[in-house]
Amino acid sequence: MINQPAEEAHRKLFQSIAFMTSAPDLMRAPEDSGREIAFAGRSNAGKSSALNVLAQQKNLARISKTPGRTQLLNFFSLSDDRRLVDLPGYGYAKVPEAVKAQWQNAMAEYLTGRESLCGIVLIMDIRHPLTEFDWQMVDWCQEGGLQLHILLTKADKLKYGAGRNVLLKVEKNLRDMNCAATVQLFSALKKTGLDQARATIYPWLYPEPGQG
Ligand code: GDP
Repeated sequence: MINQPAEEAHRKLFQSIAFMTSAPDLMRAPEDSGREIAFAGRSNAGKSSALNVLAQQKNLARISKTPGRTQLLNFFSLSDDRRLVDLPGYGYAKVPEAVKAQWQNAMAEYLTGRESLCGIVLIMDIRHPLTEFDWQMVDWCQEGGLQLHILLTKADKLKYGAGRNVLLKVEKNLRDMNCAATVQLFSALKKTGLDQARATIYPWLYPEPGQG
C-alpha cells in the first residue's frame, strides 16, 4: 500500500530532475558514484513519454532525441548523487548489423561495468511485449544482478481485461525464465501507473538500511 507522504516524496524526487550530460561511452560518463537507474526500451515503445510524465516535465526526454544524441547515454541528475540515465532506443528494423553490434557492445559495457547502476526500468509497448531485444536486456540484468522493473506502456490502447491478461502472461514468461522482474501497467497518455512506478524505483535509489 502506498501512503500519501511517501508518494509526495517520490514525486518531488522525480521533479528535481535536470539534464547533466550526454556520453558516447563510459569513459565520458559522469563520475561513477552514488546510485543510478537506467531507462531502456525499443524505439517508439514510449520511453520518452514515460520519462516525461514520471518527472512531470513536458520535454525532458526530447533532449535525448535531438540529432546527435540518440546514440548516446543521456544522464539526468536527481539529488544527492542519484541519477537517471536514458539509454539509446534500440531495435530499429533496418539497422545494419555493424550498428547493432556497436549498440550491443556499448550497452554491455555500461550494464556490466557501471558500479553505481542499481536497476533498469524497461519500457515495452503493451501490444508488443518481450521482443528479442527485451530478452537481451533481461539477460543482461540477470547477469549483472540488476533489479528490473517493466512498464507495459500504452495500456490505454487495450481494454482493462486485455491489459491484465498481457500483464499476467509477461509475469509468467519471466517467472519461467527465473527472472525476478516486477511488471506493471502504465500509460503516459492517461497518466496511469505513475505512483506505482515511482514507488518501485525510489527504494533502489534510497534503500532501507540493510537492503540493496
Ligand atoms: P520512444 O521512442 O520510446 O521514446 O517513444 P515516444 O515516447 O516518443 O512515443 C512513441 C509514440 O507513442 C508517440 O507517438 C507517442 O505519442 C506514443 N505514446 C507514448 N506513450 C503512449 C501512451 O501511454 N499511450 C498512447 N496511446 N500513446 C503513447
